Amino acid sequence: MISRKVILTGNFGVGKTSLFNRFLYNRFSEKYLTTIGVSVDKKVVEIDGVTVNLILWDIAGEVDQNKVPHSYFLGSSGVIYVFDVNRKPTYEHMERDLAYLEEKLPGVVIKIVGNKIDLLETDELAIVAQELSRKPDYWTSAKNGDAVEDVFVSMAASLLE
Ligand code: GDP
Ligand code: MG
Repeated sequence: MISRKVILTGNFGVGKTSLFNRFLYNRFSEKYLTTIGVSVDKKVVEIDGVTVNLILWDIAGEVDQNKVPHSYFLGSSGVIYVFDVNRKPTYEHMERDLAYLEEKLPGVVIKIVGNKIDLLETDELAIVAQELSRKPDYWTSAKNGDAVEDVFVSMAASLLE
């Protein structure tokens, strides 16, 4: 079985921990408990009969040279970059953040995720989509579970390619 390290990153409060908890334990909490340091857990995903052991790192802090210890990035094959569709400050620096990640982790697989879609109407979401320089891979709701599984399964599939 192959194992791959995948980190969740993005601004504070975008829902990284919530996506992690939804995918791993199928649970959600309205409470905002700031992540301290890092939580790590793993889950096996099967893709066309091949099992991939995803080692997920839910890290505190933002995508910024000074805020996230270098060691958290080390050995990562995948990055799930999360923003909050309701808060522009969490996606307006997306290009800069992605450039930083690509430089830090050459060849890394990045999945861009717009989270908290349950808080917007479809037309509001369309407006957000137009504002983005890069199209997200998935629109999710950690609250109701929309597309959460898809994010991690597609990551596992991409890591097998
Ligand atoms: P993190 O700082 O990126 O780890 O963000 P958290 O996962 O701790 O979430 C921050 C807050 O947003 C919490 O109060 C969560 O309950 C809430 N939240 C996370 N995901 C969603 C979502 O998909 N929908 C809604 N409505 N709230 C969410
Ligand atoms: Mg967190």
